[in-house]
Amino acid sequence: MTHPGVLYPKMTVIGCGLIGGSIIRAARAQSIVGEVTVADASAFTRARVAELGLAEHVTEDIAEAVKDADLVVIATPVLSTAEVAAAVAPALKAGATLTDVGSTKASVVEAFAAQSLDHVFVIPGHPIAGTEQSGPDAGFAELFEDRWTILTPQRRDDEAYAAAVARLSSFWRAMGAQVELMDDKHHDLVLAVTSHLPHLIAYTIVGSAADLENVTESEVIKFSASGFRDFTRIAASDPTMWRDIFIANKDAVLEMLGRFTEDLQAMSRAIRWGDADTLHSHFTRTRAIRRGIVAAGQESAEPNFGRDRGKH
Ligand code: NAP
Repeated sequence: MTHPGVLYPKMTVIGCGLIGGSIIRAARAQSIVGEVTVADASAFTRARVAELGLAEHVTEDIAEAVKDADLVVIATPVLSTAEVAAAVAPALKAGATLTDVGSTKASVVEAFAAQSLDHVFVIPGHPIAGTEQSGPDAGFAELFEDRWTILTPQRRDDEAYAAAVARLSSFWRAMGAQVELMDDKHHDLVLAVTSHLPHLIAYTIVGSAADLENVTESEVIKFSASGFRDFTRIAASDPTMWRDIFIANKDAVLEMLGRFTEDLQAMSRAIRWGDADTLHSHFTRTRAIRRGIVAAGQESAEPNFGRDRGKH
């Protein structure tokens, strides 16, 4: 890949946690941005961002932070997007690109649609990369390498917008990601099954194990073989972020949960009736799916720079 050079002379990141902090580190490592400004609601985060030297400017004032920016990345929990977008919209300069990294997309599209943003390029996005850690210290430059980033562009057919989408795609590619364009509602359905439902199951099963009366907590910890251990890692994910995801993606999650519940009933029937063939053929099919994920290089235990990289 030829180096794209500086794609955005001034980038502003709103919410400098795991994802915002990783974008800054990766974009700086690739020299694709010039000056970086961070706006964050948390005084602790602002102090850490300054200590870590992540940004040239750090402020609480969103309007001030975005006024000269060529690229604005909203990296706060999804339910805060409406409030952040309202603060951003009147302050953006004409021709700027406004994107986000939220794990759900239809609610973000709605939040942007409520603002007057005709003078900028609005391109929602979602990097399918993450860990169960939060905060600016958790970010690292390699987070997006060999991961997918989904962009959900607006239905606009003007050349300037197409150029802005191409530029943002180059930005993600330079940070090591592969880029796919998708409709926002389709994104939410896909992520409901690949990420949101698995998290719901993990949150539930870890809670169920903790509530058991005839199995002690120390037994759960002592005998947690890899299956349960993996669930506990997922269930340690940030409570605010996941609260927001389930509320923002309610319809798609409930749709997938309905299908999952039916399939679980079918499995429970097979177990009750000793239907060995059904169980065996189901497990054979799922093993093939797993092998496909490994073959596609999307397995989180692949080279991961010493950290577990989940996909949210
Ligand atoms: P994070 O580490 O918790 O960082 C979020 C930061 O935003 C925090 O410093 C938070 O401050 C700040 N913030 C919250 N509300 C704000 C507001 N209204 N204005 C300004 N700053 C605000 O979160 P993250 O894991 O990076 O996630 C950020 C976004 O990325 C979420 O939308 C999430 O869905 C998405 N995402 C996450 C992952 C993942 O694996 N973590 C992966 C892909 C996408 P406080 O601490 O004071 O709240």
